[in-house]
Amino acid sequence: MNTPALYRQYLKAFLLELALLQAIKSYTQPLLLTLFLFSVNLANAQETEAIGLESGSSSIEDSNSAASTIIAQADSEYGQKNYLKAIEEYKKAIQYLSGEDRSTKRELARAYKQIAQSYKRLKDRENTALYYKKSLETFTALDDKKNIARTLNTLAEAERYLGNHIVALDALKRSLALHEEIDDPEGEAKALMGAGIINRHIGLYEKSFDYVHQAYQYYKSVNNLSGIAKTSNEMGLIYTRLKSFEQARYFYQQTINIPEDKIDSSTLATAAREIAVIALDEKDYKAAEENAEKAYNIYIADNDKTKASIVARILASAYREQGQKTNAIAYYEKSLSLAYDVGDKSYQVKTLIPLAKELIEIDTNRSIQLLKEALALSIEEDMRFHQLYSYNSLRKAEKSLGNYLSALKYAEKEILTAKLLQKEKDDNEVVLMRAKLHSKKIEVELESLKESKKIDQLLIEKGKKELEIIEKEREISNLKLEKNRYANLILASLLILCLGVSVYIYHRFTASKKHNKELNYLATRDPLTNCYNRRILFDFINKYFDSTTPVREYCIILIDVDHFKMVNDTYGHSTGDKVLKNVAKVLQDSMGDDGIVSRFGGEEFCIILPSSSQEEAMSKAEKIRQKIEDEDFGDISITCSLGVTSIEFQAQTATELIDQADLALFKSKSRGRNQVTLWDKSFKE
Ligand code: GH3
Ligand code: MG
Ligand code: MG
Repeated sequence: MNTPALYRQYLKAFLLELALLQAIKSYTQPLLLTLFLFSVNLANAQETEAIGLESGSSSIEDSNSAASTIIAQADSEYGQKNYLKAIEEYKKAIQYLSGEDRSTKRELARAYKQIAQSYKRLKDRENTALYYKKSLETFTALDDKKNIARTLNTLAEAERYLGNHIVALDALKRSLALHEEIDDPEGEAKALMGAGIINRHIGLYEKSFDYVHQAYQYYKSVNNLSGIAKTSNEMGLIYTRLKSFEQARYFYQQTINIPEDKIDSSTLATAAREIAVIALDEKDYKAAEENAEKAYNIYIADNDKTKASIVARILASAYREQGQKTNAIAYYEKSLSLAYDVGDKSYQVKTLIPLAKELIEIDTNRSIQLLKEALALSIEEDMRFHQLYSYNSLRKAEKSLGNYLSALKYAEKEILTAKLLQKEKDDNEVVLMRAKLHSKKIEVELESLKESKKIDQLLIEKGKKELEIIEKEREISNLKLEKNRYANLILASLLILCLGVSVYIYHRFTASKKHNKELNYLATRDPLTNCYNRRILFDFINKYFDSTTPVREYCIILIDVDHFKMVNDTYGHSTGDKVLKNVAKVLQDSMGDDGIVSRFGGEEFCIILPSSSQEEAMSKAEKIRQKIEDEDFGDISITCSLGVTSIEFQAQTATELIDQADLALFKSKSRGRNQVTLWDKSFKE
């Protein structure tokens, strides 16, 4: 119990005590009453809360558990065939099943279904259909296809009982269409069976047989004996309608051949009953009697009074046909009494008439009595044919009693009823025809549905194939790509290789070129001073003398470092080398492109001035002398002596030219060094 409830309990006790105290002390009556009523209200509030209907604090779980308890009770009542009580309990449980969750909804759908089943057992067809519809709605909300299909099957049956053949057919069409989507062969067999029955009802026996036979084959495949028996019976019924009694009997016999404990007693009774009817029709009264008796015993044992009433009538007819009047009357009486028991007026009518016929000679007044009862009931029940029969029998009975006026009165009624009957028959045929046409339409729809399913399937297949092709194409293009990649790789490798080789060749080429250049350089230069060497000097001068186009101006300057021996001796040979390098640099810098500087040997240099006059050559020589004198050689002071000569002094060979310069140089030395001397022919001497 929750806290507010506990407080209320205490308050209630307290108020009651107070009320009693007030009573004892004889206080005013109204106060006592108010307190008492308030305490009662509290008690009521508590009770309501206990049920959990109004209290806001009660949770969905409480509701569900309350529902579960009530449903368990309902199921138990249902199990004990207390259908009215079961309905009451299920309806009570439904009030608690208001939750929106799937499990609550599923419970609700089941409760509706159980109510429908109970009403079905009670033969309340309207409510059966109504509650199957509610169940169907709930399963639809749950999108529970299997249960939707199964409920459609049972709803179709209920609608068929109500004579709503079109509604029933629609429901079965939906069920069969759903079974194309879901895997529930058991449910599909039931739908097929339902479709078979409804088609039989509207007279489409071939179609009916088709459906039932499919269901029959399914039950055979899974060896469901009860299913086999039920479908066998249904096929028997179809053959009976087609008046192919031989085949009908064959199927009923199939049911009877199944061991009794393996099938419903009612299924067995149906087969026996129907064989009895066929036997009766074929005037095999003994067989009719035996089978009807078998069915009768089953129905009595099962307390199925309605069916017992029917077979008692069949049995009575079998006895009647065999001339066993007493037995016939006895069983008509039994049939009538059972019909009274179940309150089925149509069965009462159906028995009253033949019983009256049996009694007409024995007890005419009772017979008339029974016929009048049959007439009243058949009018009440709209049983025109039986009205007609009642009028007919009454007319004959009254006539036999000499009551011609009454007989005439019945005769008039008889004619009127016959006319009405004819009209009704026509109307019924119209209704039947409409149902048949509707069924045809449904058939076409179902076929087109199947076709579209096939087309869908084909499209799916096609799609799959296309996907496969795309996949294959992709594989091929991948392979191609791979192949190209390899080709590219090879090509790239080749290119790199070629490039490498080219670079290598180029490198080798430039290297060798450089090497050649270096070799060339080395071959023409003096390694210490980087000036042209003596060999090249003579090559240059010889080139001049060998040339066919004589040049007017061509001079040479010969340079010798003064007292160089002393430098070496004083500062060492390597310092001497440095001085030589420095002197060479001064010579090269001051000449630029005008002259070719070469090392003539030791500390002597020779400069060729290919396009200088002797004046210019003298001036350049003087500049050189000055520069060397001015050049900073560290602690050492360096001077040089120069000899200049020109081609104008008629030298004929390179050696002669150089000798002239050498003589001029010698003159500079002898004159005191650090000076420039131009050659003169006097020097020869
Ligand atoms: P001068 O010319 O003024 O008469 O006197 P000198 O001392 O220069 O006389 P000489 O021409 O006889 O001496 C030249 C010296 O140069 C002799 C040699 O040892 C030196 N010599 C020649 N070649 C090289 C060289 O490559 N390096 C060095 N350090 N000395 C050299
Ligand atoms: Mg010298
Ligand atoms: Mg010298």
